[in-house]
Amino acid sequence: MLDIVIKNGKVVHPDRTIETDVGIRDGKVVLLGKAELMPEAARYVDATGKYVIPGGIDPHTHFEDPPFMGAECRADFFQGTRAAAVGGTTTCIDFAVQGNYGTRLPLDVIGMRLEMARKSAIDYAFHAVVTKNDPETIGQIQEIINMGIPSFKCFMTYEAEGIMADDATILAVMQEMKEHNGIFGAHTENDSIASRNIRQALAAGKGDAIWHALTKPPLVEAEAINRVLFLAKSTGAAFYDFHMSCKEGVEMIASARKQGLPVYAETLTHYLVLTQDVLEGPDGPNYICSPPLRTQDHVDALWQGIVEGNVHTVGSDDNAFDTKQKRMGGPSFESVPNGIPGAEFRIPVVFSEGVSKGRISVNQFVAITSTNAAKILGLYPRKGIIEVGSDADIVLIDPGIEKTIRVADSSLDLDWTPFEGLKVTGWPSMTISRGKVIVEDGQFKGDAGHGEFLKRKLPGDINTRQIV
Ligand SMILES: [Zn+2]
Repeated sequence: MLDIVIKNGKVVHPDRTIETDVGIRDGKVVLLGKAELMPEAARYVDATGKYVIPGGIDPHTHFEDPPFMGAECRADFFQGTRAAAVGGTTTCIDFAVQGNYGTRLPLDVIGMRLEMARKSAIDYAFHAVVTKNDPETIGQIQEIINMGIPSFKCFMTYEAEGIMADDATILAVMQEMKEHNGIFGAHTENDSIASRNIRQALAAGKGDAIWHALTKPPLVEAEAINRVLFLAKSTGAAFYDFHMSCKEGVEMIASARKQGLPVYAETLTHYLVLTQDVLEGPDGPNYICSPPLRTQDHVDALWQGIVEGNVHTVGSDDNAFDTKQKRMGGPSFESVPNGIPGAEFRIPVVFSEGVSKGRISVNQFVAITSTNAAKILGLYPRKGIIEVGSDADIVLIDPGIEKTIRVADSSLDLDWTPFEGLKVTGWPSMTISRGKVIVEDGQFKGDAGHGEFLKRKLPGDINTRQIV
């Protein structure tokens, strides 16, 4: 007896699409083939005309973050993962930032984040953020990897906020995690150049939201990518560029990959659909995030990077603040907490802008929203693919549904969405997490606490081979 059989759909892999039914039992995919040849199931789901895709993996969320620039995150792990699930995501990878919540060492904060995340509606994992390079901190890296957290992140900016890692810290983390089979990631922005630009702009009375983007131009990001790529090449560490937003980044990643280096780039949903023009609109401050939104040529370059295999994953960088929080520091851009929500709409927006608009194939869509993250970040083949033995994390996409995104329809209790008014073609109609239907026709039917912590493990040759 099976729990669920999904019939008549098109199962999408990163490299091909096959018409096959999917048999699910005890949270796993157990059979592929014709439903008639399978044991009877408790439930049959008709997927005629729909794509059956591996559940989305959001490699970049910030649920239940501590106050940032004075503002408390408006989505806790349950609210955030519930919204993500409604939008077709079944795994999120969040962060544990050394120093947050008054912690001293990385393992302290990891323990706290694991506790907070227990209420999650979908499976979750963490990247470890290291901000210091004292021996005790570096000495914990091996244990962190062994407990299933093999990806690290350093902030190359946010010195004023106390979480920036200097170059020596970056080098120390790279060297240590490379010894123990981890992957190094970074938030790439040059802090001192941005700070100087910001000081000059404010001194000249330029505080409008658009100046956030103008004081952090592509140069600020590109310099940091160039520097960290040099350090990664020198140490032989695998590298993952978090939330890349500029064409210079695409070019540098492409050139590093041509040399055979194991480097990868993540971009974000909003960099693929919005430009910095929104910063000049009435809700400009809401759109302040780092790196900032760019001009259309950068949007185009990121899509081209996806097509050519130089941009590998799309995250949301979900960090929910409401309009009041965005403006509580005053009118100047520099006092606006950085971050925008987006986990809920990542899958539909990328599907619509990518597949429905003909920029990418449905297979490339699955690669950038699920499979590649699973492979690069150590979840494959448990996640990121619909194969016998994989977790039954499955989403049905109805490519015929047309919708206009409205904040009123959002699952988050928030007063705005960056995608307000965007017309979307294609929408997730069902989300299955480990064999359980948790979203059906837009209705959340899951439970707080259904999500499990995913212990990740990277392939032994992560530092010497391009995984995707
Ligand atoms: Zn982030």
